[in-house]
Amino acid sequence: MNLDNKIAIVTGAASGIGLAIAKRYAAAGGRVAIADLKLDAAQAAADGINADHPGAAMAVEMDVTSEDQVNAGVAKVVDAWGGVDILVSNAGIQIVNPVENFAFADWKKMLAIHLDGAFLTSKAVLPHMYAKGSGAILFMGSVHSKEASPLKSAYVTAKHGLEGLARTIAKEGGKKGVRSNLICPGFVRTPLVDKQIPEQAKELGISEDEVIKNVMLGQTVDGEFTTVDDIAEVALFFAAFPTNALTGQSLVASHGWFMN
Ligand code: NAD
Repeated sequence: MNLDNKIAIVTGAASGIGLAIAKRYAAAGGRVAIADLKLDAAQAAADGINADHPGAAMAVEMDVTSEDQVNAGVAKVVDAWGGVDILVSNAGIQIVNPVENFAFADWKKMLAIHLDGAFLTSKAVLPHMYAKGSGAILFMGSVHSKEASPLKSAYVTAKHGLEGLARTIAKEGGKKGVRSNLICPGFVRTPLVDKQIPEQAKELGISEDEVIKNVMLGQTVDGEFTTVDDIAEVALFFAAFPTNALTGQSLVASHGWFMN
């Protein structure tokens, strides 16, 4: 599938899944803005992509919880490249704790990054997509958009919420040519997951190996992690899909951990 010079903004693209999506989009002929809290890392990611695909990437400093920074970042991309065809709302973090110990400040931070970030970036790009009569919005959900796990109240709540936002934008955007979908990965070995392994081992009183084998991969069909490249392929498929036949959907890529 080809992106034919389409313009994408990928949030949280300085690392992990977002970075793999940005690279895949550039390889498929798209242009991609690496929007991340960490400007240095975003610039390094953009430089790496431009080395292989000259002019295909730019770095944008953006805290997705800040309406001003989101609007300024989207304006920077539109000024430079003339529009936005694809948004991948991907920036995210993880904080694990049982509900009774979950700090209210951490709860609010989680919902701000995952939900406010998805709302603010969608709100900022939609007028540009509607003006053009086409666009694709992707939200990075999770198997935790479908299932719960202990210790992850804020994450599970936010990831379930993204399914509602994806479906609502699909209904609002349909007649204006804008599609909206949710990608739901299983566990992918990124810094976000590496950080959780010792935290969960401590909280659950088991070894790190048991966290990986039993907690993270125990319900997969083959004991395998999903990879960033698996998710990048799904993100390309959704972004390049040519019609409204595929909107308001969620796709789970998790080695069979969750089956629809
Ligand atoms: P990661 O830690 O490798 O990358 C996350 C990126 O988001 C980082 O570059 C970070 O700087 C950026 N970021 C964090 N807060 C931000 C903010 N306020 N504004 C802008 N950027 C911000 O993590 P990842 O595993 O690649 O996760 C990406 C997304 O995929 C997240 O939404 C996560 O919930 C989701 N996800 C991950 C997994 C997994 O197993 N890794 C599974 C399902 C879903």
